[in-house]
Order: sequence, then structure tokens, then C-alpha cells
Amino acid sequence: AQTIHWFRRDLRILDNPSLHHAAASADSVLPVYILSDWKQNHVWTGPKRQAFLCKSLESLAKNLETLEGRLIIRCGSADEELEKLIKESGAKSLSFNRDPDPFGREMEARVEKMAKRLGVECIGFHDVTLHTPQEVLTQDGKPYRVFTPYSKNWLTLPKPEPLPKPKALNTPQGIKSLDLPANAHWKLPEPEGCEILEGGERAALQRLKTAVSSRIKNYKDLRDSPAVPGTSRLGQDLRFGLLSPRTIYRRVMEAGGGEGPDTFVKELAWREFYMAILWHYPQVLENEFNDDWHGLWWAEPDANFEAWKEGRTGFPIVDAGIRELLTTGFMHNRLRMITAMFLTKDLHVDWRLGEQFFLQHLVDGEIASNNGGWQWSAGTGADAAPYFRIQNPWSQAKRHDPEGTYIKRWVPELKDVPVDRLMEPPKDGRPIAKGYPLPCVDHHEERDRTLAIFKKHREGK
Ligand code: FAD
Repeated sequence: AQTIHWFRRDLRILDNPSLHHAAASADSVLPVYILSDWKQNHVWTGPKRQAFLCKSLESLAKNLETLEGRLIIRCGSADEELEKLIKESGAKSLSFNRDPDPFGREMEARVEKMAKRLGVECIGFHDVTLHTPQEVLTQDGKPYRVFTPYSKNWLTLPKPEPLPKPKALNTPQGIKSLDLPANAHWKLPEPEGCEILEGGERAALQRLKTAVSSRIKNYKDLRDSPAVPGTSRLGQDLRFGLLSPRTIYRRVMEAGGGEGPDTFVKELAWREFYMAILWHYPQVLENEFNDDWHGLWWAEPDANFEAWKEGRTGFPIVDAGIRELLTTGFMHNRLRMITAMFLTKDLHVDWRLGEQFFLQHLVDGEIASNNGGWQWSAGTGADAAPYFRIQNPWSQAKRHDPEGTYIKRWVPELKDVPVDRLMEPPKDGRPIAKGYPLPCVDHHEERDRTLAIFKKHREGK
């Protein structure tokens, strides 16, 4: 019998529950990926992440050949394209790994309905997290709203093991596939020389190896120093499922315990916490998680928002973060917090605009973590980040980039500026380097303004 495995955010052959099931349950498997048919300028994605996806699909196609498989690429709406493929191939069943975000769930429901109408068996597998949102609940069976008790519970649960490599797929001949990248609707990223990481399962496994052998041990001490390679850089691999969270967890545990691995595993729990929040409270994509802040006032985005998007605010640490993002499709976590807090607390721009901008540029752009990170930074989200905790971008630079190495790497016009001048507003009111702007706002004034805005909102309730 023939079956279809529908690839989605699981672009790998190792530890892939649905692919494994398909290979074990049928003589022949059609591995399928359906490109969505958006044409540029999408509000939720952008060319960098799409280019990484394209490279990962090319690599997946090669890996499938080692299993006597052939990746079939189609373009359009997944339910319609899968229906056509079922009819063309005569497949009697279909399986996939579930995508827990609201858009993934909506498409799954349509595919399941289509399969039912055709009388084809359809199975969805859990894959993207170590624990499902339903597994980690309070004693009363309710979802957690705060990270610490969630993570305590999450850490005590036994962790699932990775599956072995699947059997041969024996994909039938004669089923047409679109060519990659000829059918990709995206242009390669701007600006020229954009340095995004290599896509594909093999590159991701190599990154995991590097992380486990040389980064995780010191992760606790180095994860907040953006100038050094102190974090795993596995974000995009989890986003596209080039690695499974089970494989990552297993490899980290095998390398031995300690503070580094413990802190790292807690970050995996943050990822699952935000996915659980989005699962239980999908309204966070529209509204503040904490209802106290619904309808909060935000400024009309103006020239300062444009300057923020270009990395030209005159705050060296903020500009360095944004320029890293524009050039590489990645931004260090510390910088994501600094730039997000700056946009919302110093420029008073609505977090939803920053959230969208990040999703257009981040290769690891993940709806749940991005929304969680933005709401946390704006002071409107889950967890105890009260609105009055406003980080000062100047002291953040001093603490996390004391030598100015990170700033100078990403803002080259500052390379000859003495370090102390990167860490405070210019006292003489003159630009610190030729062509570099003056700070676009005064942090202390804007901080007071933010406090007043939040206070007024609360009093008006
Ligand atoms: P590591 O530090 O090595 O962490 C390992 C993995 O744990 C990460 O790959 C990620 O999957 C997970 N993780 C780590 N920190 C967090 C966190 N705070 N929240 C959720 N998961 C975490 N992460 C994304 O994956 N996609 C996003 O779109 C995203 N947007 C963010 C937006 C803002 C405003 C903020 C403050 C954070 C955001 N994060 C996002 C979380 C975090 O910044 C990235 O996961 C991390 O920088 C990725 O780099 P890494 O793989 O080297 O992380």
C-alpha cells in the first residue's frame, strides 16, 4: 500500500514520528512538501527565512534519496494539493506532524476534513516539543500563566527518546514534482553579503555537535555576552524541525550535567512555555496577554521607528542589534530584549509592529517565542516582568558588551570610538563618529513618560 507523509516544520529524516510511521506502515511512501503561494512582502515572513527554508528543502531532497525516497514539491493550499496527490497516487493514508500554532492547526483541520471526505486514513503526530501543552498543567488541570511553576513541573516529567532511522521509503516513480529553487517565490536577501546560516539537517547536526562540545558547558556564564559565540544557534533548526527537541535534549544530557546544561534545558522549557501560552491563549497574537493592558496607548510610528528598523537610532547597542538582524537574520537574545524594550519603552511604539518586523527578518522566527518575547519586553505579557522594570540601553551595553566588541562588529563606523563613548549619551552634544546620528531620544525622559502612560492607563481602568 501507498501512503503520504506531509512535511511541514519537520524537515528531517532522523527522529521524525510521522515519517517513521509512514515507512513502517506502508510499502511505499510519498514524501511531500507544499510551498505556500505567497508572493513577497508577507507581513509574517521574509526572504531570509524563506531562503533558509529553500536550502533546507534541497538538503532534505538529497537525504531522502538515501532512503530510496523522492521529495515531491507542490505549491498552493495544502488541503487542495494533498487531495490532488491522493487522487494521482491512489494513496490510502496520510500522516503528518502537528504544527501547534493557530495557522498550522487551521490547515490541519482542513486536511483532516478532506481526508475524511475521501475516506483516507489521516494521522497527526505530536512532534515539536518534548511535552504537549496538555501535559504540563497545574494541579487543577489549568494552563500555567507564569514560567517558574510551569518549568518546575516540565522539568520533572520523563523526557521522550528519539526514534531510530526510518526504513526505506520506495517512493513510486511518475509523480510530478516542482523544481527547487526555480519555483521559490522569494528573492535572495538584501543587503548583499547577507550571512545566513546553512540550511539542512546535516548543517543542523553539525551545529548541535559544536554546541554540545564547546558551548553548553559554559552556557550559563556566556549566554549573555553577545560578543562571543556562547549560545547554541539552534533556533532555526528547531523552527524548521531540522533537529527534534528529543535529539537535542538527549545529546545535551549525554554530554554530562552541570550548570551550563541545566540552564540550557531551561531555555528549551521557555520555548515550550510560550508554545503552551499560544496554544491555550491564541488571542495573544492580537491582544496583550495581561488584560490590565488592553487598549494601552501607543505612539503613531514616526521617523524614529524608521531609524530603529535601520539601526540608526544613535544608541550604539540598539543599532548593533538591529544591524546584526538585518545582515544575518539572527539577533542575540540579549539584544532582542534590549531592542524590543527600546522600541516599546523609549519610542512608545506598539509591540505588535516590532513583533512583525522581527518575524520578517529572523531566520528562527517562531510565532510563539516571538510574541512571548515581545510581550515580555513590553511589560504586557506572561511572567513577572512588571512594566516599571525598564532597562537602560546605556547600562545594558556596559554590562553585556563592556569592551564594545559587539557594537564595533556591527556598527563599523564606530570602530575607532573610545569604548566609554559607546556607553553613554555624548556629553558635548556632538556625534561620536562621522555620519553616526545623535541619540534620537533621551532615555531618562522617555522612561518617565512610559511610567506615566502605564500609570494613567491603570488609573483609568
Ligand atoms: P540558545 O540560547 O542557545 O537557546 C537554545 C534554544 O532554546 C533556542 O534555540 C530556542 O529554541 C530556545 N530559547 C532560548 N531562549 C528562549 C526564549 N527566551 N524564549 C523561547 N525560546 C527560547 N526565539 C525564537 O526561536 N524565535 C523567535 O522568533 C524569537 N523571537 C524573540 C523575540 C524577542 C523580543 C525576544 C526577547 C526573544 C525572542 N526569541 C525567539 C527567544 C531567543 O532570543 C532565541 O530563541 C535565541 O536567541 C535563539 O538563539 P540560540 O538558538 O543561540 O539560543
